[in-house]
Amino acid sequence: MRPTMSTTSAIPTELPDRLCTWCKVPMKKRLVGGQQFVHYTCPKCVFQHTTRLGPALPPVKH
Ligand SMILES: [Zn+2]
Repeated sequence: MRPTMSTTSAIPTELPDRLCTWCKVPMKKRLVGGQQFVHYTCPKCVFQHTTRLGPALPPVKH
């Protein structure tokens, strides 16, 4: 068993990493827009990028 560490911020889904177009460094990421979009911010420059998470599939009726 692992000791239970205080989980401060559990990310629901695994967010894909993205490198800054200019600095080639991993950008900071956070969920926005009802957790449907990932907002990337470069820690070195002011470059920002917003991408949408996987397309929300319509509920399948059975
Ligand atoms: Zn940058």
